[in-house]
Amino acid sequence: MFLSVNGKSIGLDRGKSDLPFLSHAHGDHLNGMKRSEEIIATRETIELARLKASPVTHPRTKMLNAGHILGSTQLWAETDGGSVLYTGDFRTKDGIYTKGATPLEADRLIIECTYGDPAFSFPSPEEVYSDVSRWVNQNKNSILVFGAYNLGKTQELIKLLNEYCGIIPVVQEESEHFNQIYEKHGVKLERAVVGTETAEEVMRGPFVAIAPPRIAKRSFSAKLSQAFNLPARCAVVSGWAQRYRMNVDRGFPLSDHSDFQDILSYIDLVNPKEVVFVHGDGSHLMRTINKKRGTIFASANL
Ligand SMILES: [Zn+2]
Repeated sequence: MFLSVNGKSIGLDRGKSDLPFLSHAHGDHLNGMKRSEEIIATRETIELARLKASPVTHPRTKMLNAGHILGSTQLWAETDGGSVLYTGDFRTKDGIYTKGATPLEADRLIIECTYGDPAFSFPSPEEVYSDVSRWVNQNKNSILVFGAYNLGKTQELIKLLNEYCGIIPVVQEESEHFNQIYEKHGVKLERAVVGTETAEEVMRGPFVAIAPPRIAKRSFSAKLSQAFNLPARCAVVSGWAQRYRMNVDRGFPLSDHSDFQDILSYIDLVNPKEVVFVHGDGSHLMRTINKKRGTIFASANL
């Protein structure tokens, strides 16, 4: 999807344009960015995504905090057809290292709707942090493995284990590029990387580990249990835990996205004439909004 600003195209999470905008560093938003020399993005996003491009701004656009992961930003633009706000992935609620997304009124709102189904209603992150901490305390004598994506969720989990449980988790080498950039930008993360002396020390007794969701399954915790001769349990930390059973002992519905109700409230704040739903199924949201207001609505996929 593209915006036209002063006759130039700005690609929304699309590299092939006069000037691309990159909302954040998750892989599904990086289309064609590698070849761009200049990108409207935050410095954090450029570093997390390992891009060589220079982060730039544009006089007819504003970047607004998106509350999703480190460096995530929305784009507000005065386009040739009126003002537009594009959210990218966004979370309206505050997280342990993020502030909730900042809304700004616009004629047209292009909004992410990953969890745009009324079945998704997430508790506040603080409630989930407390639940995770309770579960960790109840299983003090076991090895615990949390399934979390390497960028965003892993850092949220490290920080929560540090601050709520006083625990230094064992993390995979593959999350280290991201962990180090978080620290560089002021998010302190105490962790032990697999294969280091610190990790070996931590793993002498019951420990807590974070691994990608594809690994952190019951079969993996069973192997750890055998290898260390301790009980072992696994959990997943994801918004999808509210819908799917994921071959784990516990699911915690911690998401760095907005849920159905959050999306509706955000639309009210932006007060647009037109809404375009992207990154998900916007049909439930469209039905709900069209019942309530008589404005123009459309759906699209980036
Ligand atoms: Zn994302």
